[in-house]
Amino acid sequence: MTDDPIVDALTTVLDDVRDDTSGDVANYIPELASADADALSLVLVSPHGGVHAAGDAGHRFTLQSISKPFAFALALQTLGRDEVLERVGVEPSGEPFNAISLEPGSGKPDNPMINAGAIATTAMAPGETIEEKTSSLLTLMSACAGRELKVDEDVYASESETGERNRGIAHLLASYRAFDCGVDTAVESYFRQCSIQVDAKDVATMAATLAFGGRNPATGEQVLAPEVTRDVVAVMSSCGMYDASGRWTVRVGLPAKSGVSGGIIAVDPSEFGVAAFSPRLDRFGNSVRGVRALEEISRRFGLHMLADR
Ligand code: GLU
Repeated sequence: MTDDPIVDALTTVLDDVRDDTSGDVANYIPELASADADALSLVLVSPHGGVHAAGDAGHRFTLQSISKPFAFALALQTLGRDEVLERVGVEPSGEPFNAISLEPGSGKPDNPMINAGAIATTAMAPGETIEEKTSSLLTLMSACAGRELKVDEDVYASESETGERNRGIAHLLASYRAFDCGVDTAVESYFRQCSIQVDAKDVATMAATLAFGGRNPATGEQVLAPEVTRDVVAVMSSCGMYDASGRWTVRVGLPAKSGVSGGIIAVDPSEFGVAAFSPRLDRFGNSVRGVRALEEISRRFGLHMLADR
């Protein structure tokens, strides 16, 4: 027991899920396969920026698809909703993260939470070159995390070496004139964005920034406009958990985004941001123990967004 009841509650939840060793660590990117499969953490960031951390909260991993809502946010903040939504939809695809999922005719990706849509939104980041786009993405994500984040160069190299499918998707997008930049700039910037190194405290703070209308509760900085944040959280609520988004909404009921390195962020608007990390994934690509832990938190504390609170 600690003197923080929230940490004690998070620790109890972790204890409940710790023995579940089902699922497998992502291995389609060689560098991800070397993750410590047993790492487990749960962190909640409250309205005044209080960090309540349980488990291996300092353990480092890469953002992977957790970067997608923030790349979408940067595109919205830079270009405005109308222009962004002309190039990427906001409809659930019901398909895996790496599906082609382009609307017949227009070639518009279904939503910014799958690779096709994410590569399109990454391409909208300010800057002409890979370095400039990466830098504007890093600046935004660092402001949301409340510390300076960096790219894990080993993961980036591994991701780029094995990224032919994403290159294929990017070429298809380019055939519909989805980018103002070159295909390489779009796709390498996307690989770099996925390879940003974080820990569970960073991503919980990023989630909290979304929960509090774009204001990082730890630093007090208004990083994103409230209307941008609302659009991002809305899309997370329908598309954030790959092709298990519907079942997540029924069982957990908090807007969320997961990534293949085993992280999940969830947002309780105006209340808190929370993050779970555990690298073994289910067949949808979501962290097995992360899903269970957040499901348990939602159930125990009655947090489903559609429940009578
Ligand atoms: N870098 C990964 C890819 O595009 C991100 C996948 C994910 O987390 O969903 O393959």
